[in-house]
Amino acid sequence: MPELPEVEVLRRSLERPLIGDRFEAVRVHFPTLREPLCERRLRRLEGRRVVGLRRRAKYLWIDASGGETLVVHLGMSGRLTLVDRVAPLVDHEHLGFELASGRRLRFRDPRRFGVAFVASTAGLDRDRHFRHLGVEPLAPGFDGAHLADLARRRTAPVKSFLMDASVVVGVGNIYASEALYRARIHPRRSVARIARRRFDVLAGAVREVLGEAIEQGGTTLNDFADGEGNSGYFQVSLDVYDREGQACPAGCGASIRRIVTSNRSTYYCPRCQR
Ligand SMILES: [Zn+2]
Repeated sequence: MPELPEVEVLRRSLERPLIGDRFEAVRVHFPTLREPLCERRLRRLEGRRVVGLRRRAKYLWIDASGGETLVVHLGMSGRLTLVDRVAPLVDHEHLGFELASGRRLRFRDPRRFGVAFVASTAGLDRDRHFRHLGVEPLAPGFDGAHLADLARRRTAPVKSFLMDASVVVGVGNIYASEALYRARIHPRRSVARIARRRFDVLAGAVREVLGEAIEQGGTTLNDFADGEGNSGYFQVSLDVYDREGQACPAGCGASIRRIVTSNRSTYYCPRCQR
């Protein structure tokens, strides 16, 4: 499943090839997605130029001229790639944007959990998909003070706190485990029992793991730019995630443990994390 780093890498990779290009025709092939595609609304893009690409949580925002934005969420299996305009349709190609440059922006989604819609650029922050979202983990507003402030009067385990989108967006299951390991904080520790300086360390660890994942994913940039569209979701080097029973990489002598809460696995070192 694409996480925040994959979406950020996708944004960066599409930025150069897309900005300045123009949507000529929008083709809806299979409207059935998590939210049904609205062809009438999507076709508002026709004739407009791409003026910018942004990301909010795991949503890609492709801003077009005239104050309209194409919003895309990849769901579980969505892929957004640039292909030749006349490239044959492939299985699960729900949507295609034919571009003035002779290319097509193709949206494929075999599992159909993705989302694509057009909304007014000025109203995005108030849109129901975005208005409840907390800060971006890579933005200046995300730091130990922010976490400590939101932790006040809460008692949730720190891992679910980190994965709460009203606290910070885009910290998925894998990155939450990794950040807590780096910060040496036990995933089940209540946020009421975390000292202020440890929140500084935790915020730093979150930025670090996400930043490294984006860095590693940057090597896939050419796949998007050359129109091959073969780039997959990248694997980051993980210290604890999916490593149950293996030796703690810090060399403490303990083995990585796994706990399962509401169907999600959490990995941690019982000796290093307190
Ligand atoms: Zn350890």
